[in-house]
Amino acid sequence: MSKKDNMMSLRLEIIESDICSSLKSEATQLVMGDGNLDADIVFVGEAPGKKEDEQGLPFVGASGKFLDKMLDSIGLDRKDVYITNIVKYRPPNNRDPSLSEKKAFWPYLVRQLEIIQPKIVITLGRHSGSFFIPELHISDDHGKCQKIDCNGIELLVMPLYHPAAALYNGSMRQILLDDFAKIPALLA
Ligand code: URA
Repeated sequence: MSKKDNMMSLRLEIIESDICSSLKSEATQLVMGDGNLDADIVFVGEAPGKKEDEQGLPFVGASGKFLDKMLDSIGLDRKDVYITNIVKYRPPNNRDPSLSEKKAFWPYLVRQLEIIQPKIVITLGRHSGSFFIPELHISDDHGKCQKIDCNGIELLVMPLYHPAAALYNGSMRQILLDDFAKIPALLA
């Protein structure tokens, strides 16, 4: 099966398995991910917000616009990478995803990574970051790469602050842009 077929059947499996049924019942749709299934880089955010829930695509609201700008700052766009979230249904009123919701979706995120086989995972925010790096302290660890074994897949993981943190905070914006500037060297 092609990567596209594998991802489509994983998507159907999530929908049919009724995972997080209360989130599912309030959400418009599952937001699986978007981008290039042959990408070397996968970005993992937290959970869809209102716009993402409406459009069925990750990071298409205000945080997504800033993510697009950061990608552009290193000569990439969404077609060059794959973007997803740890939790794939919108939590009501944009509340934080709960630990049990993250745990329920984690195996499916790992299976997405098994399909894509990226070299680097960039986590956006603590909700996804701490699943890859349980001892994560984002204020110390942001922008630093760690080699991890994720269910037998060897990955470089770089935890970053969530783009939403930068929307109203100029210094956070610069920190994120500086961390992004390290990505091309990792890819080389
Ligand atoms: N924030 C996230 O973490 N993910 C999205 O898809 C949108 C906003």
